[in-house]
Amino acid sequence: MQKIPTVCVVGSLNMDLTITTKKIPKQGETVIGEVFETYPGGKGANQAVAAARLGANVTMIGAVGADTFGDSLLENLSREGINVEGISKISDVATGVASIIMSDHDNRIIVASGANAYVTLELVDQYQEQIRHSDIVLVQLETPIESIVRTIEIANEYDVPVIVNPAPYQVLPDKILSGCTFLTPNEIELEAMEQESLSDSIREKIILTKGAEGVQFFENGKSKVVKSHNVKVADTTGAGDTFNGALAARLGGGASLADAVYYANAAAALSVTKLGAQSGMPTDEEVKRFIE
Ligand code: ADP
Repeated sequence: MQKIPTVCVVGSLNMDLTITTKKIPKQGETVIGEVFETYPGGKGANQAVAAARLGANVTMIGAVGADTFGDSLLENLSREGINVEGISKISDVATGVASIIMSDHDNRIIVASGANAYVTLELVDQYQEQIRHSDIVLVQLETPIESIVRTIEIANEYDVPVIVNPAPYQVLPDKILSGCTFLTPNEIELEAMEQESLSDSIREKIILTKGAEGVQFFENGKSKVVKSHNVKVADTTGAGDTFNGALAARLGGGASLADAVYYANAAAALSVTKLGAQSGMPTDEEVKRFIE
């Protein structure tokens, strides 16, 4: 039996506003679409939910607006058993939203970060106890970079390992590259990272997710590959988020890197067999049954 890990996620919360349509509007055109739906999202919140479903104690540091979307995102995380005390409600700022146009052959997404931009260095300092008292910290790049740098500084000070999911990609300051324990790009993000010169020690922190090709990582300086599971794909949205949440939950519980990658690869495979990001995330029981 693994111990129950405590995972601290510092990251974004968005409400995803999705319209499905047969036709994407051209410039200046209005089209009548099909169904409108709202889904809780944001990479931070998604990864927090993934880790919680898999049995981790999860705390989240983030920000929403003092509006109905914010309330509903907090309720959603609380329902998943996530500690939301570190999520600030910022007055006079809108909760982050992603406006998504979804058709069979093309998706268009535009994000208004709103309150996510208020995840400041000061906010991270205010809730630093949560970072210190966790087994592992998980961050993405949808909140201001200086707050991520601060998160890593605090985690380093207390010897708490940090996973950085470099998504959506932006150039990472040295403090993040050298201070983090693992980097989890997908192939597109790795390609962007390769534009910078990466030292061998940074390269060995990379756990590369390769979609249907599986996962590549380093163990004792040697590159290893875990093949993906052959599953019937319904929706790959949230595969990366499930992978990261699962990796954190497993590593935080004391698993070896190889075991954690193996488990996260299985959790992510299960997530692509179901529709939606958070709605498709499996429980620990489902993952264990799948890999047995
Ligand atoms: P992202 O969602 O960030 O683009 P990937 O596409 O690399 O990330 O997917 C993350 C992980 O999800 C993969 O490494 C793999 O474990 C799993 N996965 C993704 N697509 C598939 C698939 N078609 N079949 C099985 N597993 C998949």
